[in-house]
Amino acid sequence: MKCPYCSQPESKVVDSRDSETGEAIRRRRECLVCHKRFTTYERVEAVPLWLVKKDGRREEFRRQKLLGGLINASTKRDIATSQLEAIVDDIENQLRSRNVTEVRSREVGEMVMQHLRGLDEIAYVRFASVYRSFKDVEQMRATIEDVLANPPGTRPPEAPRRRRRHADDGGEPSLPIGK
Ligand SMILES: [Zn+2]
Repeated sequence: MKCPYCSQPESKVVDSRDSETGEAIRRRRECLVCHKRFTTYERVEAVPLWLVKKDGRREEFRRQKLLGGLINASTKRDIATSQLEAIVDDIENQLRSRNVTEVRSREVGEMVMQHLRGLDEIAYVRFASVYRSFKDVEQMRATIEDVLANPPGTRPPEAPRRRRRHADDGGEPSLPIGK
């Protein structure tokens, strides 16, 4: 890292912090020769990560788009944007640490749902309604009942339920009692 003033390669880091977006580490350096200070940014090299959709189409993973979906689902809920950004960070880190170039969009959706479920049930159901494209109110009811029957913390985070719920034929929804 050459000093921009005197081109000497030696400098020391005097301060280090995450940038505002969390995508880079900002380092304040001081040249060991001329003692002037300058700033460098260290970023993860962005290897494209592809989302593979149900129909096989591919779309590049964009954290802004994912964050947008989370913000929509959280409208008027008491959730700070920083909490949603933390979810996106967590998911992106998890995906990138796998060193793969593609991931099924369904899987990303499930990861979001797991996070949202523990954070806010309304945001969870809203996100689910978009992501799972509920066909009718019955599907929505099944999701809501599932949240009520299994509040956050009652299920190991690593074991999301994959099977679909089917509505009972004409029966009353069974209420979970005594859990
Ligand atoms: Zn210098």
